[in-house]
Amino acid sequence: MMMRLARWSAFLVAGALWLPCAYGNAAEAAAKAAEDAAPAPPAAPAAPAVGTWHVREVDGVEYLPLEDLRSFYKLMPLQPKGRKVVGQRSLGNGEVTLVFGPAPRELRIQDKLFVLSHPVQEDATGDLLVSRLDVLQVIEPVLRPTYIANRSAVRTVVIDPGHGGHDTGTVTPYAREADVALVVALKLGAELKKRGYEVIYTQEHNQYMSPQGRVDKANAAPAAIFMSLHLNSGRSDVKGSQVYTISPQKKGEKPLPGHDFSQSSTALALALQSSLVEKAETEDGGCRRAHYSPLNSLRCPGVLVELGYATNPEEGTRLSTEEYQLKLAGALADGVDAFARVMNPATILQVQKAPVVETPPPAPVKVDPAPAKKAQPAKPKAQPRKRAARRRAPARKNTKPQRRSNRRRR
Ligand SMILES: [Zn+2]
Repeated sequence: MMMRLARWSAFLVAGALWLPCAYGNAAEAAAKAAEDAAPAPPAAPAAPAVGTWHVREVDGVEYLPLEDLRSFYKLMPLQPKGRKVVGQRSLGNGEVTLVFGPAPRELRIQDKLFVLSHPVQEDATGDLLVSRLDVLQVIEPVLRPTYIANRSAVRTVVIDPGHGGHDTGTVTPYAREADVALVVALKLGAELKKRGYEVIYTQEHNQYMSPQGRVDKANAAPAAIFMSLHLNSGRSDVKGSQVYTISPQKKGEKPLPGHDFSQSSTALALALQSSLVEKAETEDGGCRRAHYSPLNSLRCPGVLVELGYATNPEEGTRLSTEEYQLKLAGALADGVDAFARVMNPATILQVQKAPVVETPPPAPVKVDPAPAKKAQPAKPKAQPRKRAARRRAPARKNTKPQRRSNRRRR
C-alpha cells in the first residue's frame, strides 16, 4: 500500500493537490455502487467500509466528528495540543494538510482556502464537527478524486466571457469587467487550442447573451467543462481571485442538474484557484459556493471565476494590462490541464499500470523456430527480451543474423 501511495504521489499535480487514496477499479465500482444505492446525499462519503461515521445533528444540519475524518482519511493531528491556535485544528499525513479555522467556515487544504457551506462546530469534548455536506462535496473530491461522481475525460472547454453588449458588468476607472473578461477568455481559448482542447466560446464579440443561452452552449458540447470569467467588485482595499461552484442542494429541495457535478466542479475550482494563486500570484480569495443561475442548469463540471477586483485600484489597473491578462490565461490553462489529467480515466489507468513498467516480470524467452537458432538479440524496445538478450551475451558479436532478423520484422 505504501509503495503504491509513493507512486501515486508522482501523479500529484503542481498547483493542485490530488491525493488519490483509492486503488483499482473494484474499489471504485464498490464505491459507485454504494453511492447509487444511497439517497442523495449518502449517509457517509461513499467508500469501502473503513471506520465508522457518527452523524450528529446541530441546528438541523448533519455533522461528522473530525475524529471520524481523521481515521477515515488516515490523517494525524499536526499540532501539539499546547500550542494550537484557538479555533484552528490541523490534520495531515505527510502528503496533505487540512487546517480548519480560525474562522468557523474556513478550511485550508494544502494552504488553499475553501469557504465551507456550514460553520465548523465544537462539541462538548472539544472535538470539531464538520458538516456532512462539506465532507462530501469539498474534502472528499479533493482527497480522493478517483471517487468523484460522474468522472469523465475532458475534451472541450466552454469559455464564457461574463457579461457583454449592453451588460457591461462592473465598470471602474481601473477596469471594465466585460472587456477584461473577453480578452482573458480569448487568450485562454487560444492557449487551450494549442494544448489540444476543443474550445467553444459562449460569445466572442462582446455581445449580450442570456444565462440560458450560455448554458445551452455548454450542455450541447461533448465531454465539456464550463468556465465563466468575471471581475469582482467590493471595497477598494479588497483584492484577490475566487472560484465559485454551485450552491449545495437545500434540504427538501429537488437536486438541480448542476448538483450531479458538484464534486467534479469542486475539483475544477481547486485546480483553477491553485494555479491562479501560484502562477498569476493572485491573493487567495478561496473556493466558494454561490447561487449563479448558469451553474444550476449545467450538465457538466462548471465554475465561475472572479479573476480579481475591478474596484481595487492596484488590481483593477493590473487586470487591464495585456501582460497580466496573458498571465491569467496561462494560469487558467494550467489549471484546466491539472484537472483534465486527474479526470481522464485513461491517464489514471496509465498511472495504475506504472509499477508494472518499473518492475518487469521475468523475461519470457520466445524461441523463434527458423533463423533464430544462433542466439537472437531481441528487438531493442522490448525490455523483457532485451534482458534475455543480455543474459545471452555472445549474441552481440553476431551481427549478421541480427540484420537479417531486423529485415524480416519489417
Ligand atoms: Zn460579472
